[in-house]
Formats: sequence, structure tokens, C-alpha cells
Amino acid sequence: MSKNIDPTAVFKLSYGLFVLTAKDGDKDNGCIINTCTQLTSEPLTVSVCVNKSNLTHDMIVKTGVFNVSVLTQETPFETFTFFGFQSGRDTDKFAFDAAYGRSENGLYYLKYFSNAFLSAKVINTVDCGTHTLFIAEITESAVLSDEPSVTYEYYHKNIKPKPAAKKKGYVCRICGYIHEEETLPDDFICPICGHGASDFEAL
Ligand code: FE
Repeated sequence: MSKNIDPTAVFKLSYGLFVLTAKDGDKDNGCIINTCTQLTSEPLTVSVCVNKSNLTHDMIVKTGVFNVSVLTQETPFETFTFFGFQSGRDTDKFAFDAAYGRSENGLYYLKYFSNAFLSAKVINTVDCGTHTLFIAEITESAVLSDEPSVTYEYYHKNIKPKPAAKKKGYVCRICGYIHEEETLPDDFICPICGHGASDFEAL
């Protein structure tokens, strides 16, 4: 890379963070992506750029459909580590079914910490070396909440933990909400998804 290129300069673009989901047969998968851009309004098209090392990428190549869930500023760090910026073959990311909905195309979208989802059908692909650029037409979309979308800059400033600042508390296994207290009352109800204390585990 040229010494005249500072790769962090692109952070100033303040692009968002999204959960990309796909499905191949019975298997669902998802990963975090940081680019989803509207291209045209007639037809309504978007582009997403996906690292080829993701299993989610391979599913989209095979099936030609994907969903994008737009993450909000309330998204806890655990959601980012859970989905990861790369999706492998081994973990079942959708074990807690109550946290997700299915759109008309049969793919999952996030019900919590997401303010909108898009379903899209690939109409063109561009091989970009490490990544594939998918150009896709929107087939379904919905607004889910008024929470502001998270930007990459916001994520780095406010969500990603600073080193050595380990959190204490309990995480909701359904939606990922963090209760930042020493104790969790037995009658505690998750303020995001409404599930009880038995669905929480210590961080
Ligand atoms: Fe919850």
C-alpha cells in the first residue's frame, strides 16, 4: 500500500454496519458488513460488498438472495462479536429463534437492534478480488424502529470496548441486551424483548 494512503481515512465516510443474512437449504448464516449503498430508485437497487471468506458470501452466490438488517446505536458489542465480521460453518447463529423474523423470501432478519431490513435479489456481481460486489434489486423492505442507525465511527467510539475495560453484568440470550449490574433479580424482564431472567447469562 502506498505510504500516501491512510486506510483509516475511509472511516470518515461514516458508513453503517449491517447484518447480512442468507440461507442455503436448511442452513441459515449471517455476518456483519459495513457497506450497503443505494444505487438507483427505479428500480430500487443496492450494492453490498462481501468478503469471499464468509460462508454467507457463498450462500448468496448460490441462491442469489440476501437480507440486510440495519443495526442501530443501541446494538451491544456482543451482537457484533456474535455475528462477526466473518461467518464460519460451525456456529448456529440463529439458535434463539425469538430474536429473528422471516421475510417473504424465507430469510432471517433481526427483530432487535435493527431499525430496518431489506430483502434483495442479486441482478449483477462484480469480482473484486478478496470481495464480491453484489448489485441487487429490493424485493421487500420495512422500517422496524426510529432508533438511529449505527455508523462505523459511532461503533468505534461508543460500542467497541476499550482495552482492559471488561464489562460486568448479564446478557439476554434472546436479543443481546446487556444489564450492567452486579446482580440480576429473579423477576427481571428484558426491556428490549420482554423475556425473563432465565434467558439471561452472566458476561
Ligand atoms: Fe432480550
